[in-house]
Amino acid sequence: MRTISGTDSGTYLMPKIESARTRIWVCSPWIGEEYAKKLVQLNNGNVEVRIITSNVDYNLPILSIFKSITNRNFYYTILEQNPDDKSRVFVHSKIYIVDDSFAITGSANLTFSGMNKNVETINLHENYEEVQKIEREFMKLWMDLEHKKTDISNVGLDVVNIKNSFPISFYPKDFSNKINGKIKKIELILKPYSYCEYSYHGTIPNAKSNFDGKGNLVLSGENKIVFSDNNISDLFMNYEKKDIIYKKNSQESDWVFTIKESKISNSREAWALFVDYIVDKNSFTYFKTYRSGSYPRKFVPRKGDVNIIKIDYSIVPTWIVDYYNDLATYQSIILGTNGKIISTQVYCPDCGQKYLDSSLIACDICGKKVCPRCLTEKGLIFKKKICRTCSH
Ligand SMILES: [Zn+2]
Ligand SMILES: [Zn+2]
Repeated sequence: MRTISGTDSGTYLMPKIESARTRIWVCSPWIGEEYAKKLVQLNNGNVEVRIITSNVDYNLPILSIFKSITNRNFYYTILEQNPDDKSRVFVHSKIYIVDDSFAITGSANLTFSGMNKNVETINLHENYEEVQKIEREFMKLWMDLEHKKTDISNVGLDVVNIKNSFPISFYPKDFSNKINGKIKKIELILKPYSYCEYSYHGTIPNAKSNFDGKGNLVLSGENKIVFSDNNISDLFMNYEKKDIIYKKNSQESDWVFTIKESKISNSREAWALFVDYIVDKNSFTYFKTYRSGSYPRKFVPRKGDVNIIKIDYSIVPTWIVDYYNDLATYQSIILGTNGKIISTQVYCPDCGQKYLDSSLIACDICGKKVCPRCLTEKGLIFKKKICRTCSH
């Protein structure tokens, strides 16, 4: 870190901002109009922009600019100037983060005076670790601020922020090319998951057999069930986790938003559930041979043989999309992070239950595909499979 005092803060910051490639995060209580326009212009070139600023008269022109922006990677949050509000402590923080490699903290506002006229003291952070630290500070500030504004019970059109989640990479309008039919209902569910990587090494006493295993597992916070899922494991391994802000636009108000609360209280509980699962899955019966014959014995790995390498927790955004075409009504579950369809089921038109596409059977009279429970067999010699409608 370098500390610099002088009237030329802008000469350190502006060239970095101009050359941003992935993101610019700004916390400045006052922002000049020309600087706001610069940020908007960079955002149009696909740089993620996040801004924390305050609700002061000086900012009125820039706030009206921000309000009109609909880009999905342009985010801003406003600090209200309420003297009773504890968030007022942030009024004096000025933070600038550019990509992963550069950050400035200090006294300079993003205004003409702050950048070119006033004597300011700024700290330059030019390595990844330092920038990461400031990024966390910024995020914490952001989450605190947003959290105060958010009433989860009334998320209708509000801004919702979810800690430790993945970025949501696509919006309902992008479903059209994934789904072969007309969309009937869309729900975004935020599901809590824990993830672990493990290895284990078990031995059968007095036998020269070793059992080694390793892998990864997922634990649903909704129902405390451990399972193995490559799609979700993939997310934990390949996506950088970060806090996200999800903004629901008013024109997309025709879908439902649900947050599933986690029933797992802490990582110790997750750890215990993972270990129990691994012990159970790796227990097996083997035969021990004696002179008089062989006897079944049960091998149960000791808990101490299981090594949990890593545990993570995250909220995974999942889209549940109901849609229909001429043939049937379907439901697909799509991961919000990468758009991967993780399962598709079809509704039985007679009972409304969901089934795998392949398990529906066509009625011998009308040809409609229904579930096995909604089909009856009729006829003595030539059995016909008949749907409920045709049997009446
Ligand atoms: Zn049915
Ligand atoms: Zn029929």
